[in-house]
Amino acid sequence: MRQKKFILQEQEIPTHWYNIQADMPTKPLPPLNPATRKPLNADDLSHIFNKECAKQEMDMEHTWIEIPEEVREKYSYYRTTPLVRAYALENALGTTAHIYFKNESTNPLGSHKINSAIPQCYYCKQEGDTNVTTETGAGQWGMALSYAAKLYGLEAAVYQVKITMQQKPYRSTVMRTFGATVEGSPSMSTRAGKNVITRDPNYPGSLGTAISEAIELATTTPGCKYALGSVLNHVALHQTVIGLEAEKQMKLAGEYPDKVIACFGGGSNFGGIAFPFMRHLFDGSHKDTEFIAAEPESCPKLTRGKFEYDFGDEAGYTPLLPMYTLGHDFKPANIHAGGLRYHGAGVIISQLIKDGFMKGVDIPQLESFEAGLLFAQTEGIIPAPESCHAIAATIREANKATKAGQSPVILFCLSGHGLIDMPSYESFINGDLRNYSVSNSEIEENLKKVPR
Ligand SMILES: *Cc1c(COP(=O)(O)O)cnc(C)c1O
Repeated sequence: MRQKKFILQEQEIPTHWYNIQADMPTKPLPPLNPATRKPLNADDLSHIFNKECAKQEMDMEHTWIEIPEEVREKYSYYRTTPLVRAYALENALGTTAHIYFKNESTNPLGSHKINSAIPQCYYCKQEGDTNVTTETGAGQWGMALSYAAKLYGLEAAVYQVKITMQQKPYRSTVMRTFGATVEGSPSMSTRAGKNVITRDPNYPGSLGTAISEAIELATTTPGCKYALGSVLNHVALHQTVIGLEAEKQMKLAGEYPDKVIACFGGGSNFGGIAFPFMRHLFDGSHKDTEFIAAEPESCPKLTRGKFEYDFGDEAGYTPLLPMYTLGHDFKPANIHAGGLRYHGAGVIISQLIKDGFMKGVDIPQLESFEAGLLFAQTEGIIPAPESCHAIAATIREANKATKAGQSPVILFCLSGHGLIDMPSYESFINGDLRNYSVSNSEIEENLKKVPR
């Protein structure tokens, strides 16, 4: 029987995260204070985040950062995760490509987000904080943080984007099951939320607004830290356990990826799987690997955004970050891949794109669900609508290779399962979904609001 899954023992959970910032040929530009336009340091960030994560965010020096033993112990509840050869998908496509996926959907919370929620809550506890707060789009991050907070006896308050609260009602129930309080955003409980509701009472919410609300709560509540589930460098750092395991597992399979693919919201699952392999671009041992980030056609910051200093949130509470952005108050269409509805790309990713180490591709909503359905019907796993974008990009690459008579090894990250996303599959199957494109003038208009 040919081998389908490549499994590592618990002792092989990585002992260190890989900090790509130390190896990057061009270092990312620093975040700026929006008022003075002066570079910020780790101390400035520790008003909002716990100190250790603030330090990791700015660390350009240490290539390897030790994973605390208590965190590894919590990782062992669900790690390591399998690397799987997608034989059935390959068959259905009739492709000559070898397709592998790293399955981050196997933990009960259903996505990769837990890989960063655990260390963030661990550090908060270590530093004497009592509360954490955050935003959540589709709900995966809120679920992961609610559980991680409970592990360490912290209170969690989650602002969930209103539209996704309605699209995915069970997500807030999961968060409350883990003991968190959940508010629909925009809410009336913060100044940022009130401002948005005053302008537009029917606004369905966005990640940008929800971030503003959570930061406002964190900066006005003693002992409360803000935790972010994507975009930032320390989040991508924690996610490198994905790629570090995958690297060992690809060795077990006797292959090395020619293409590494992940879906892209703010960049954490992409960075998680890609950065450990990218270090072999930098050290010259594997120079030809291609890195592809799959974003929704309706939120195309990687392919059509501009590299600018911009805010990470809608209200402008965050530092200015150098990133590919569509403008901080870009209002993405209500696609079902809620986790990909974010206006900007992380700072590291933005620099890597600028330097030509990776690229973005745009996937229309219908193509993403077609890919998701094919994957479900072949491999037996219903993927998260976000992950469907990675599958669609993988299928494009596989078909291209088949036509060209090539057999590349493609590795993609299955960032989560879609079992609480059935309303979106139902809409797709009923023919009720459509594509959303964005016009150039819409993008240009939005970029005018970027602070210069
Ligand atoms: C949050 C989420 C994403 C997008 O976030 P990234 O930081 O870009 O990884 C993708 N897939 C799933 C399943 C998610 O929960």
